[in-house]
Order: sequence, then structure tokens, then C-alpha cells
Amino acid sequence: MKPRIYLSPPHMSALERQLLLDAFDSNWIAPLGPFVDQFETDLSARLAGRAVCVTSSGTAALHLILILLGVGPGDEVLVPSLTFAATANAVRYVGADPIFVDSEAETWAISPELVKEYLAECQRAGRSLPKLVMTVDLYGQPANYERLRQVVEPFGIPIVQDAAEALGSFYRGEPVGVQGDYAVLSFNGNKIITTSGGGALVARDVEFVVHARKLASQAREPVPHYEHTEIGYNYRLSNLLAALGVAQLRSLEAKVAARRANHEFYEKNLGGMRGVEFFREPDFARSNYWLTVATIDPSKAGFSRDDVISALSALNIEARPTWKPMHLQPVFSQARVLGGVISERIFREGVCLPSGSAMTDAERGRVEAAILALARARS
Ligand SMILES: *Cc1c(COP(=O)(O)O)cnc(C)c1O
Repeated sequence: MKPRIYLSPPHMSALERQLLLDAFDSNWIAPLGPFVDQFETDLSARLAGRAVCVTSSGTAALHLILILLGVGPGDEVLVPSLTFAATANAVRYVGADPIFVDSEAETWAISPELVKEYLAECQRAGRSLPKLVMTVDLYGQPANYERLRQVVEPFGIPIVQDAAEALGSFYRGEPVGVQGDYAVLSFNGNKIITTSGGGALVARDVEFVVHARKLASQAREPVPHYEHTEIGYNYRLSNLLAALGVAQLRSLEAKVAARRANHEFYEKNLGGMRGVEFFREPDFARSNYWLTVATIDPSKAGFSRDDVISALSALNIEARPTWKPMHLQPVFSQARVLGGVISERIFREGVCLPSGSAMTDAERGRVEAAILALARARS
């Protein structure tokens, strides 16, 4: 059996090792330290000067944003149905109700038209509006922000951008992470850069981020004794992990280039197959192609996305289905959903192919050969 090809493994270099040891040798092991400050400064420089608070996870950053926006029981939050559960879970952490919204066909992100219809419906019925609209830049592809802004601005509702998968992507020439009023990044092990676990909260409003840093470090008041006027959390990123983040961020462009090359390879070599379509950036976006995703129409291709996953698995290659929509998840069976057929189709037909930034030509070739063999066997 050939060595395993993973979907999106961590990609480290000598620099990560060096900075991690520097942090260790300086004895800055404990929660905060110079690498935390530097990681925040470096991220801010890449995000048009937005203020940044690095956190123990992307999920923690989402939770902090919802707390700081005062979202609570009885409130509604519009959430794209097609996402990883963390986006919706954070809404439940504060006791609010997610209203799931279907994808639009082009970006797979939250449908601005369905958001518009829902807001108009609330207004007509004289009901309170959702507290915010959450967007997710799926697989690196930014949502349709211009259209969303037009829709939400008249209602004065903030956009919270879950950009966990999209660091290094661009939307109309601007770095992804600055389109929302607030945004979240993730440095989990499978993301484009990783600190093993970690995340960041991004905002235009500096005071918001200063407050986030306080809540994320147990909400201690700035006095010598332990004084608390708010409920705090233990959500800060450790200095050791921030050292990894500083190093990883320096090779972000190279990692984006490598993942874009993966996408190009797959599309060039497999894109001509009947019934196989690759999820591709629209002309307003430059995707980091965190994952290369294909949809497979079994009636045309002669095989399904599950067949692809099994064929690859038999050759020790990891591939995964696209996210299962939140409105189909048992844990959210009580939640309301607007539309749903587009995200359901993406889930039924979608497969994420190995997309790591350290993938070799030989590894890409193994994936290609396996899929071509499957197609031959079924034709
Ligand atoms: C990875 C991910 C998260 C969660 O980030 P963690 O750092 O693992 O907590 C949230 N939303 C989306 C869309 C993700 O892909």
C-alpha cells in the first residue's frame, strides 16, 4: 500500500520549528507573550489594518463576537445552512436561534435573495429582525458581499463573516476577512495555515477587539487584585502556538499558490469528464482553493461522489463529502430553514479532493489515475 494522502494536512517548515523553539527558550510558555502580539500585528497588516484578537480556536472567536454583539435567548441569527457545524453551534452557545438559509448557486454561500425575502417578511409582520447575518466563505470562495450589503444595509444589520476557510483569498481585490463588520479566522490543523489549534477575531472597531481580548482572558479588570464585572472566558491563543502562526503566515502566498495549482491540475485533467464539475471562483474572487471540490452528477458520470470516496479510500487516499447542510442535521431539526434544495444538491453530489499545500505531482497523479480508472470501469 502506498503512503496515505490526506485531505489537508499541516505543512510545516524549519521556520516554524525555529520560532517555536525561540518561544520555548525565552520561557514565554504561559498564555500571552511577544509572539501573540506579533501574530496579531502580522494578521492586521494582511487585513487592511483591521484590529485582531487571536484566540484558542475559530469557534471561540465566533462565540466572543456573538457575546459582544449582545446576541442572546430569543434572538434570531441568519446562518448559511451549508457550513461546518461550528458556525451554527456558536449561535446556540448564546441561546439564540439560527435560521438556516440556502446557498446561492454561484458562490455556494448564503443566498442574498433569501436573506432579503426573510427581512422583508419580518418587516411586514412587524416582528423583530434577526440580530445579524452570518456568512461563510466556503472552501475559500468569498460570498457575494456587494449584494449582501445592499440587502442588509437598509435594515442596519451587521454581517459576521466566518472566513475560517478563506485566509489568503481575495474579494474584488481586497483580502478576505475585511468584508464583514466582524470576521473570524481559523488555524485549526486542516486549514490553509495552522497553529495546531487557534483562531482570530477581526473587526474594524478597535474598542470591540480590546474588549474581546479582555473577555478572552477571564475578564480581569485592570487592577492589582482579581476584580470582575463581566463573565470571562479562557479563549486566548498561547504564545507557543502564536510562534507557529507567525511562521505559517510568512508562507501564506506560497501555500495559496500550491492549493491553486492543485485545483488547476484537477480541473485540467478531470474537468472534461461527463457529469463532473469543479467548484470554481467567480470573476469577482480569487480563491485560496483551500479545498478543491467537485460535484458529480451520477446520471451523467455513471458513478457517484460516494463511489469516488470509496475508490480513493481503497488506494489509501482521503476524500470527504461536502458539508452536510445544518437543516438536515438531527441536532438542528427544530430550526427554521429558508429554501434548501441547492445546499442539498451540493451535499449529495459534492466531494472534496486531497488539497494539501505540500502535495507532490506524484500524489496528484495517484488521485487522477484512481478517478479515471473508476470512470473507465463504469463506462
Ligand atoms: C474550521 C471552521 C470553523 C471552526 O474553526 P476552529 O478553529 O476549528 O474552531 C468554523 N467555521 C468554518 C466554516 C470552519 O471551516
